Parts: sequence; structure tokens; C-alpha cells
Amino acid sequence: MRRRRTSLRALFGFALLCLVFSGNSYGAPSPVEELTVLKGKILKEDSKGQSVLVLQRVLGALGYDPGPQDGVFGPRTLEAVKRFQKDSGIAVDGVVGPRTVESLERIWARKFPPETYTLQPGETLSLVCARFGVSLEEVVRANGIKDPDLVYAGQTLILKPSAREQPGQDGQGGPGGPERPMPEDSSEPPPASRTSFPIPDKKICLTFNDGPDPTTTPEILDILSEYGIPAVFFVIGKNAERYPELVREIHERGYAIGIHGYEHVPLAGLSRQQALSDLSKALQVVERITAARPALWRPPEGAVDDMTRDLTRELDLTLVMWTNICGGDLPASDADGVLRGVLNYARDGAIILLHEGNPHVLAALPRIIEELAKRGFGFQGLR
Ligand SMILES: [Zn+2]
Repeated sequence: MRRRRTSLRALFGFALLCLVFSGNSYGAPSPVEELTVLKGKILKEDSKGQSVLVLQRVLGALGYDPGPQDGVFGPRTLEAVKRFQKDSGIAVDGVVGPRTVESLERIWARKFPPETYTLQPGETLSLVCARFGVSLEEVVRANGIKDPDLVYAGQTLILKPSAREQPGQDGQGGPGGPERPMPEDSSEPPPASRTSFPIPDKKICLTFNDGPDPTTTPEILDILSEYGIPAVFFVIGKNAERYPELVREIHERGYAIGIHGYEHVPLAGLSRQQALSDLSKALQVVERITAARPALWRPPEGAVDDMTRDLTRELDLTLVMWTNICGGDLPASDADGVLRGVLNYARDGAIILLHEGNPHVLAALPRIIEELAKRGFGFQGLR
């Protein structure tokens, strides 16, 4: 494992070079450049400009007629966006934001898979094949790969576009787009696909900091429930006070709640009285809502010192740090980045930190669960 990490790091520069000089050879219109323009933008009715033109081109190529491709987000473009959102199983609001762009990228990748693709650090063969809707077996065969686990970042793979007419081998459904609509009401594969996962021989724990958050908590809970896996929510006391119904829901659905401070400030370095007051307040808020006293705490910014360790013992709390030490999902600029960040730190017994309020976490979560399961991980909570 250590040797593989080193080689990944060594090859990272090579992978970047491959991207810069050759790119991935897409036969169809150039989706990477096209869709990159839409990242971080919010486009809605009456928006105008180059991004809208790109959106119209992409919608048109995917079979959703946006009307004249004129860079003006008019009623026909609005209708096309809504039809696309409906087919993709995401919220049908006619607004093109991160979730819609992510779905456009995913469906584009499946409709126009590149002929070749250069593996990025942290990516696996099964992940790449699922993304492009191509058969793992065919890619293994086409590239003469002996062991699918022994691929490396920077390796250029031939993806056989002809394979994309087959249904996804991993249960991810067929290619998207209007010819073969996505499963109704779901942009993600049905949970039935889990039956093809290996029997877990390793355990991993997913944890969510900084909630509850009305923009993510309900959906995170739905995704976790859909896959039937445990997770731990480290809530901020003042957020819990503000959204008690979300705290109640986390608790009633059987997920463990830990505290992440009341004010969400690092306690190390404060006076003992200040730190005690912050922790006690957070404990009281959660206990008042759930009638259960949290037993776990995660220090904001991971800041602990002798004083906070003493308090941990006095308050009968268990201190929970995390394995993906480089800030978890925070440095990632998209869902793929979040997924790669998690996979890079996936090992038996790992505690994975993710943040509420981060839309990329929400977008990546089903894939995080599926990819870990495919790699033989089962999910566990914490006591
Ligand atoms: Zn935090």
C-alpha cells in the first residue's frame, strides 16, 4: 500500500502533463471544456451570455431541444432544463446550479465516452468504467490488464465506445440521455446494485461535521437510509438549537449524534471555564432535543490540549478525530474531488470526515458509498 501511494504521488505530475498536452480524446464535442464553463454558475430564466450558449449546446447535444442557440435563457431553454432535470431525478426548478451541472456532466460522459482516458490519482478502473458507462470486463480485455486493482494514475486506457450500448455492468443503469431515460425519481443507481458488491472484509465510518444544515441534512439522511448504512453526525450546538427538528430526525432515524462544540470555535487555548461552558452548552442542547446525552465529541479544527483532554474525561466523552487529515472534502472543488479525497484515505478502521452544507458532498455521497462497498468496505458507526 505504501509503495503504491508513493508511486501515485510520483505519477501525479505525469498525470497532469498528460492532461495538459494530450487531454482525453473525446470524439464528440468537447465536453470537458464545454461543461467547465458552467461550473460555479447559476443560470436561470433571463440569464444571458456565453455560459447560456454553452448550456444550450450541451442540452441540444443531449437531445433536449433548447430552442435557438442564442445565448439567451428563454422559455424554451427553461423547458429543456426542466425536462432534463426531471429525467435526471433532480429537483425540477429550471435553475442550472451545481447539481444540474453535475448531472449534465455525468450524462454527457455516458453518452459521449472518450475513446481513451488517462487515470487520475485516486481513481479506480471500476469508478472510471461506471462514470463512462462502459464495461469493466471489456476495458480490462482491451487494455490487456491482468489485475484491475493494479492500475496507476497517469495510465492511459482505451475505453471501447461500442461497449456503452450495454447496460451498466455494475448496476449503475444504462447510458443516460433521452434515448434511455434515467430511472424515474432517481439520479442515482437503485440500491439493488448493492447485491453485486463483495462481502465486506474492512470497516469504515462516515462522519458529518457542522450540521444540522437544512440544505444537506435531510438528503444525507435519505441517502444513508437508502443504502441502510450507519454514520455519525457531529453537530454544532448553536445549529442544533436553530434546527431542533433536524436533530430530532437524525436521532429518530437511528444515527449517532456527537457534539462539535456550541460556538464552533477551537477550545484548546481557552480558559478551562470557557471550554467547559462551550461543551456543556452543546451537550445540553442536544440532550434537550433528543433526551439522550451525546457520548462523542469532535473538536473544532481538531484543536486539543491537556485541558480539553481532561475535560473529555470529566464529561465522560470520547474524543473522535478523523483519518482523512487534509481537511476531508473542503479542498475539493467538485463531487469527483470529494470522492477521490475519500478513496485516498480509505482503509480498514478509517473515520472519514465530510462536511454538511457542502453540495459536493451531497453529490458525491452515493458514489462514495458504492465505491467503498465495491472495494470491500462495510460501514460502521462509533460508540
Ligand atoms: Zn467544523
